[in-house]
Amino acid sequence: MPAAGDGLAKKDTIEAVADLGRGNELGGEAAERRKRLVELYREVKGCTRCPQLVRSRTTVVFGAGNANADVMFVGEAPGATEDEQGLPFVGRAGKLLEELLAGIGLSRKEVFIANVLKCRPPGNRDPLPTEIENCRPYLYKQVELVAPKVVATLGNFATKLLRGSNEGISRLHGRPEVRRVGGRWVRLLPLYHPAAALRSPALIDELRADLGQLPQLVALPEPAQGEGQGEEGVAIGLGEPANEAGPTQLGLF
Ligand code: SF4
Repeated sequence: MPAAGDGLAKKDTIEAVADLGRGNELGGEAAERRKRLVELYREVKGCTRCPQLVRSRTTVVFGAGNANADVMFVGEAPGATEDEQGLPFVGRAGKLLEELLAGIGLSRKEVFIANVLKCRPPGNRDPLPTEIENCRPYLYKQVELVAPKVVATLGNFATKLLRGSNEGISRLHGRPEVRRVGGRWVRLLPLYHPAAALRSPALIDELRADLGQLPQLVALPEPAQGEGQGEEGVAIGLGEPANEAGPTQLGLF
């Protein structure tokens, strides 16, 4: 068992990312973005910004998947299984997500999956505001470096956080809009959390239907990167200043 902050229990996440993604095939900008994502992983796996989480975690769950993915999923925080294995969404909720992705011809190898918090809160308690603030820059950087067209938020927590609003998932699910997450404009698609769908099976059909929008959203033109673009639902996520310059488009994974 690795020590806290030591990285992953079974396999180095970045190696997993490389295996799953197109790391060996990328060139130019995408290869550079992947390289920077690897550097970010090395930084995050030793992070000690949240003392309580550092004490209680088994591993840092950075995220995994295709580092050049069109679709990035963002959940709340690692659970017990994720904390043990060092990979996101590997429990029952992850299995359901994989099944639903298969229904639209996608596998988890083709998407990138991460959480708002990279370390499991003890007892699965809600993340504290200070912990969210501490970890938020890492998520923003991941979005910048993976450079997805679509960010799908899984559940109330990630949805409220990335939209910078208290509107709940029951009103917002399946309603895509253009939002800025950190420095990147994306099509944000709020989804029910698969764990909620496991608890309330009636939600599975809604989650399946909402996920079914992904191929169409990916096929749309990428939102313009930079200030003042005029698409639907333009908003600023997580308190970023509206006039901040757009992200540097780097190449990675
Ligand atoms: S939750 Fe994020 S900011 Fe806090 S210790 Fe873990 S990696 Fe660092």
